[in-house]
Formats: sequence, structure tokens, C-alpha cells
Amino acid sequence: QRKFFVGGNWKMNGNKASMDVIVSTLNEGGCNPNTEVVVSPPAPYLDYVRQKLDKRIGVAAQNCYKAEKGAFTGDISPQMIKDVGCEWVILGHSERRHVFGESNQLIGEKTAFALQSGVKIIPCVGEKIEEREAGKTEEVVFSQTKAIADNVKDWTNVVLAYEPVWAIGTGKTASPAQAQEIHAKLRKWLNDNVSPAVAKSVRILYGGSVSASNCRELAQQPDIDGFLVGGASLKPEFVQIINARS
Ligand code: 13P
Repeated sequence: QRKFFVGGNWKMNGNKASMDVIVSTLNEGGCNPNTEVVVSPPAPYLDYVRQKLDKRIGVAAQNCYKAEKGAFTGDISPQMIKDVGCEWVILGHSERRHVFGESNQLIGEKTAFALQSGVKIIPCVGEKIEEREAGKTEEVVFSQTKAIADNVKDWTNVVLAYEPVWAIGTGKTASPAQAQEIHAKLRKWLNDNVSPAVAKSVRILYGGSVSASNCRELAQQPDIDGFLVGGASLKPEFVQIINARS
């Protein structure tokens, strides 16, 4: 049985005051203990949020580099993420891929380095609208997944996220059937290319315009094991999304 998992990706939003509000909402409870919850503040706030947040909730960096330290201006390392008490990092988010030009190759290297450094990862895959319309969804998400999978030894520290780029921040959610279709194909890919045991146990999250109003139907799909939430994770409705299966 895969534990339901909900991540809140705050992206480049907020300040101490707004984070205090979200943190106290999450600390107050009301979150189903059967859901694993992780929030991802911008890097300057990782330490602040980690110190204030209930320890049952995880904290993820939104990105990191593939080296421990050195002349890499503007970047952070898995060792720094761990040093401020955080456990997770999101890798290969579509905004990293498409705004900052990160390649499958680089995301694979980051995957290997983060895991070997002892940070759990939430790698993201997903097709652009033109790729979907050209019938290339599977080709794109499988090649992105392969670049990650080739660098994973222990899948217990990996939660995969499927985020179709056309659904991110657009209010245009994938339908439960559309999302389920790709989740099932990703699980089959893991079955055929990694192992049946990994395919059964790895959680695959859906991301892209998840809200309190669409989360319940999505959460009923057999291969959707949770969500990676952007905009709605900054609002009180995030708790309803955490409780989508309650
Ligand atoms: P939205 O929920 O704002 O569409 O963002 C999804 C996302 O990119 C989460 O990582």
C-alpha cells in the first residue's frame, strides 16, 4: 500500500509573514496522519520554515546542484539542505527545465548526487502541450523518467511527480482519466525497466492546477498516489488537498 503524499511547491513566492500563516495552519492539525506532507519554500526560507514547522511535515528545497560545495554562484547543495534540517529536494521541475534550460543529463546527475548525499528526491516529468498534440507524450515522459531512473539505486527515497506542463499554473487540470492514463503508463515503464517491486511501491504524484475542487476525483484514480501542488499550496485549501482521500 502506497502512502498518500502531498507536496506543496511554493515556487518563488511569499515572505516570512505569509509563511508564518501557512505554517501555523499546517501545525494546527486537521491534516490526515495517513498523508505524508512536504512543503517546499524558496531556499532563503528553508531554515526558517524547518524550525517553525511540525516535525511530522517534511521540507524540500526546490532545486540543488550536483556538488557539495565550490564555485557555483547562486546554487545550493544537498549538504546545505541537510545542514538546515531539511530532508527533500524537488528536481527537474518543469520550470527548471523550461525557464532555466536544465537538461535530462543534468537532472540525472543531480538525481545521483542528491541521493548519494542522503537527500530524498521528488523528480518531475511532464510533456509540453505541443508534444502532447504531436502524440509524443509517452516518448517525452519516458525519456525524462529514464534519465532519472538510470541514476537511482534505492527507490525508497524517490517520489516521482507527473506534471504536464500545459496544466501547470493554467487552471487547466488534466482530467482524472488523462492523468490516470499517464500514471499507469509510467508505472508500467517502471515495471518493465526497473522492477515490478519498484513499480508497485513508488509513489507517483500528479501536479498541475490541483485544487480543493478537483483533488478528490483525481485522488480516486488507482495510480495517482498524491499531488504536487503549486498555487493552492499557498492557501488554506491546501489542507483540503492533503485530506483528499479522507
Ligand atoms: P500549480 O498547482 O500552480 O499548477 O503548479 C503545479 C506545480 O508546478 C507544482 O510543482
